[in-house]
Amino acid sequence: MPGRRTIGVDMGGTKLLAGAVDPDLSVHHRAHRTLIGLDQAAVIDAAVEAVAEVGEASKQEIAAVGFGIPSLIDRRSGRSVSSVHLPLAGVQFGDVMAERLGLPVLVDNDGNLAALAEQRAGAAAGRSDAVVLTIGTGIAGGLILDGRLHRGWLGAAGELGHMVIDYNGPPCHGNCPNRGCLEVMASGTALAREAVRLAAERPDSGLAAAADEGYALAGPLVTELAHDGDAAAIEALELIGSRLGVGLANIVNIFNPEVVVIGGGVMAAGELLLKPARAVMAARALPPSRDEVQIVPAELGVEAGMVGAAVLAFDGPEGEPAT
Ligand SMILES: [Zn+2]
Repeated sequence: MPGRRTIGVDMGGTKLLAGAVDPDLSVHHRAHRTLIGLDQAAVIDAAVEAVAEVGEASKQEIAAVGFGIPSLIDRRSGRSVSSVHLPLAGVQFGDVMAERLGLPVLVDNDGNLAALAEQRAGAAAGRSDAVVLTIGTGIAGGLILDGRLHRGWLGAAGELGHMVIDYNGPPCHGNCPNRGCLEVMASGTALAREAVRLAAERPDSGLAAAADEGYALAGPLVTELAHDGDAAAIEALELIGSRLGVGLANIVNIFNPEVVVIGGGVMAAGELLLKPARAVMAARALPPSRDEVQIVPAELGVEAGMVGAAVLAFDGPEGEPAT
């Protein structure tokens, strides 16, 4: 369906971003909605309204609509199996939206769509083998293998945040029964936890001063203090980066990617995170994969999910590029 627009919709736990997207992946007519505190019917209504708003503003025929939702979607049934951050569990989301919108609808999870977006229009453009990690409160993953998004039998592949990097590590989040997963060791949540510990250990640090002033030591503040040169904040990011490097060594050995793209809020730390991550990966992974792989920041930022959803809509159910 080249030559026609699609609409991409990224639904996070708190907000929705929709946009009309051309085949060259340029974005027009964005619409925003907040989803905080909405029940299932209201979340679906908000999505329908946002798509209608974008469609009307676009004034062009819309070929299909793609949605990214923070859920595991069973490929056999199209049902949202589990959804921690939005009340969508058990919903046949694609069918419901197709009926409401009167358009073809494609649905996938946020980690997969970030990977599609970066591989078509971002830091992994044109690469056939790429891994995309999105590090925020948790860690989402997406795998591009042999040029295609790899979803696995049920659609549950690419859960890279749940690879174990510490056998005896802390219990993981949500419905994960494991311990010491990359997500619980190297996410923004882990960064905040380590910052609190380091602030207590280093009463003369900037971290401790901020805590004393009543600030919560969340990721953005820790990153700001590290950029300002606070040694304890830098140490917190180096620790998170080193753990990320262990995860990257696993990824590099298993998938032999040409590039690993790292996005999400924690990447505001940039090289403060990536430098130790690359060093640990290079020290632990096998040659020749470790010597050739590139570990780079994502390029699409907060619009990655929306652009990926639009790519999904262009590709259609067979997952093949339209061009
Ligand atoms: Zn886990």
